Amino acid sequence: MSAQQNVDVVVIGGGLAGMVAANRAAQLGKRVVVLEQGSEERYLCNSRYTGGSFHICIRDIMSDEAALTRAITEATGGFVTEKLAQMIAVDGRRSVRWLQEEGARFMRADVASHRGWMLAPPPVVRPGLNWEGRGGDVTLRQLEANLVKRSGALLRNSRAQTLIMEDGACHGLVAQQPEGEVRYRASAVVIADGGFPGSLDMLRQYICPHPEKIKLRNAGTGRGDGLRMALAAGAGTKGLGSFYGHVLSRDAMTNDKLWPYPYLDNILHTAIVVGPDGERFVDEGRGGVFVANAIARLPDPLSSAVILDQAIWEAGGRQGIIAANPHLPLAGGSTLKADTLADLARQLNINATRLEATVAAYNQAIAGNTLKELQPARRTTRYPAQPIVQAPFHAIPTCAGITNTFGGIAVNEHAQALTESGAAIAGLYAAGGATGGLEGGPEIGYVGGLVKCGVTGLRAAEHIASLPS
Ligand SMILES: Cc1cc2nc3c(=O)[nH]c(=O)nc-3n(C[C@H](O)[C@H](O)[C@H](O)COP(=O)(O)OP(=O)(O)OC[C@H]3O[C@@H](n4cnc5c(N)ncnc54)[C@H](O)[C@@H]3O)c2cc1C
Repeated sequence: MSAQQNVDVVVIGGGLAGMVAANRAAQLGKRVVVLEQGSEERYLCNSRYTGGSFHICIRDIMSDEAALTRAITEATGGFVTEKLAQMIAVDGRRSVRWLQEEGARFMRADVASHRGWMLAPPPVVRPGLNWEGRGGDVTLRQLEANLVKRSGALLRNSRAQTLIMEDGACHGLVAQQPEGEVRYRASAVVIADGGFPGSLDMLRQYICPHPEKIKLRNAGTGRGDGLRMALAAGAGTKGLGSFYGHVLSRDAMTNDKLWPYPYLDNILHTAIVVGPDGERFVDEGRGGVFVANAIARLPDPLSSAVILDQAIWEAGGRQGIIAANPHLPLAGGSTLKADTLADLARQLNINATRLEATVAAYNQAIAGNTLKELQPARRTTRYPAQPIVQAPFHAIPTCAGITNTFGGIAVNEHAQALTESGAAIAGLYAAGGATGGLEGGPEIGYVGGLVKCGVTGLRAAEHIASLPS
């Protein structure tokens, strides 16, 4: 027989979303336990790897709420409902303030509007992973200490497996722990397992046919357990088909110095990306997140390359948190170079005439202001297109890097899990990367991973605390 524990709230996952929900619920008088599958003192998760920028749609999280609501609606083409967009816009700033009260430190990293509220200290400016002692790591440790002071607990080596459902309501869960199976009976469960960016099976099912050919630009710990459990409990989903990520050097597949940074987004949105046939296949002007999704969906996601000239390498190449120029070649990433496009095509092993024709059509469209007529059309509302004319020409073989999944469990403004028809499932909540409907959608609009953790974590806890015990 399995052991049984009784608490008020069980949280699945000790990332930022789970730790916000747990601390807020404990602050409001609930007995809380967080179950974390990782066994290490500093178990890995996306919140530990994070760059730490609290923003909304790459804007200042403290800016006007109505403008932020509009930005979310516009970025996602209306996929995020007005109510949920408002929830993020209004509670984004509140989650930063609440975290400050919890002892989290924020700083302005630079003048960019979306980097005014960064968890401190920010990552070191160098290629490759560096999370130890940085903002995400420090904040998680602070939140764990706070939870313990509030008589809550974070239990490592504890993998949630099945929800306890009775009469359509969630009454806890069953977890696997070193001593065996333990049943946690509770009036509420918060799923905060980080979504499914670490599950090749689920990425194959929902996002692209060859996930083994995309780089998991994440901790690999979000394996879709929460989604699987929620589906079994009758939950609905929203927007499972896209992800937040960046375009990386193809060498990142095997060279750990080339992820999570540098990425190629700042180059490609002023240049072009071609497939193995030497033709463009995506509107580069929609930015790196959109292009990464398009690359992931190619029949062979390891077959595209960014094509640029020396002027772009010296301009966009030098932009970004950890600029590709010079960090990409310094960290061992391939950059092919040639004096002619034909020579570049030969190095890439693609048809030279096709590549020359693609670049000529692109250059002509810039000169003639007809980028909208290209196939696929090229928009310039966010990024100007730069001609590819100045030798040497460069090619950078690419891969798509997935940071986190955009879609997940459908939720309402209290972070309650919803059925497909929109009814709340009593006792079941989702927060952070486990949620769906808060970003992405057909426009693949990026809203922000950290703000989702703060907002849904707070909302879930406050709704749980508002119910009669
Ligand atoms: C390199 C990088 C840079 C980023 N930079 C930014 C940024 O600057 N700004 C921004 O807004 N976003 C950024 N993000 C995204 C952001 O960090 C994530 O969206 C956010 O941290 C997700 O938090 P979470 O709590 O939902 O998931 P996670 O932090 O991944 O936590 C989920 C936890 O659940 C645990 N878990 C999973 N399954 C189970 C189970 N069955 N039982 C028990 N435990 C389980 C996992 O082990 C993990 O610890 C970045 C992400 C990465 C990887």
